[in-house]
Amino acid sequence: MTAGAKRDYYEVLGVSRSATPDEIKKAFRRLARQYHPDVNKSPDAEAKFKEINEAYEVLSDEQKRAMYDRFGHNPPGFGGVGADPFGGVDPFSSIFDAFFGGAGVGRSTRGPLRGADLRYTLRLTFEEAVFGTEKEIEFRRLETCPACQGSGAEPGTEPTRCPRCGGTGEIRQRAPIFNMVTVTTCDTCGGTGYVIPIPCRECRGEGRVRQTRKITVRVPAGVDGSQQIRISGEGEAGPRGGPPGNLYVALDIQPHPIFERDGNDIILNLTVNVAQAALGGEVSVPTLEGSERLRLPPGTQHGQTFRLRGKGVPYLRQQGRGDQIVVIRVDIPTKLTEQQRRLFQELAQTFTSPGDDHHDEGFFGRIKDAFGL
Ligand SMILES: [Zn+2]
Ligand SMILES: [Zn+2]
Repeated sequence: MTAGAKRDYYEVLGVSRSATPDEIKKAFRRLARQYHPDVNKSPDAEAKFKEINEAYEVLSDEQKRAMYDRFGHNPPGFGGVGADPFGGVDPFSSIFDAFFGGAGVGRSTRGPLRGADLRYTLRLTFEEAVFGTEKEIEFRRLETCPACQGSGAEPGTEPTRCPRCGGTGEIRQRAPIFNMVTVTTCDTCGGTGYVIPIPCRECRGEGRVRQTRKITVRVPAGVDGSQQIRISGEGEAGPRGGPPGNLYVALDIQPHPIFERDGNDIILNLTVNVAQAALGGEVSVPTLEGSERLRLPPGTQHGQTFRLRGKGVPYLRQQGRGDQIVVIRVDIPTKLTEQQRRLFQELAQTFTSPGDDHHDEGFFGRIKDAFGL
């Protein structure tokens, strides 16, 4: 874009400097309809259409319009003449692409492509996730070819300018329908602008080779299976010397035979017998770091929970830990020894709960009474 050749934006839209936003919009719509390449076949319609769009992009934006009013096409601090004062404004592509399928006319956003991201699934034990660990992992990825440093040209030779596109990476053609220029990526060089006369033998001109990579992954304490670890720059090398992608390490955390996780708390089901539940007493509770003593009060109920503070999972990248929650399961015996049966029967005599044997006694009692026995 050359600043000197630019027409005044107000002039382009045919409005006064004091035009309201509504007037600007109306003027733009009228002109856009008039010069749209779809309906206007004159040779300069394309350029005109572009000019109109550019003027509208600036004048329809309050901030950009104010800047334009003060500084015209060359505001200070934008690199002077020739620089685009409204960086990022590409009116042609936004409107044009909508009509013509994004051919990207007038754009030159070519540059080295970034390499692909990789994903690795790392298997961890329950304890490794809780306390953190370091793991060496090994995977295959595309790396920049060491022989040609990614250029794809045999060492000692050089890539040369593409003869088809002359190094621009684009092929411009005049389309007869709209009487306008269409631009496509050069298929000889794939848009890079150069070709390789003698391809590198190591990578066959690809610039990248598949290699095994070994790295150590540091797993912080407190991770869970929903998280992944991002290791930047450890993905695949970009083609033609482009920057590398990232490596994402997904975590596959194995379940523990007795512990379960609930966020930063650890749940443990602890089975006690009826006597322990009724009488209370001290029990031994397994934790991830050895066993702890827990005092059960007399009359502990099935399903009752107890909290061992600070015995849970460390908070990820923070101080402190969750708790271990002990859920009591009262075990009702299914097989009794002779002695236990006798004791339970004896115990049964002492209870007078509703729904026990008294109902039967009462029933027979009433029959006895009825017969006067
Ligand atoms: Zn190579
Ligand atoms: Zn080319």
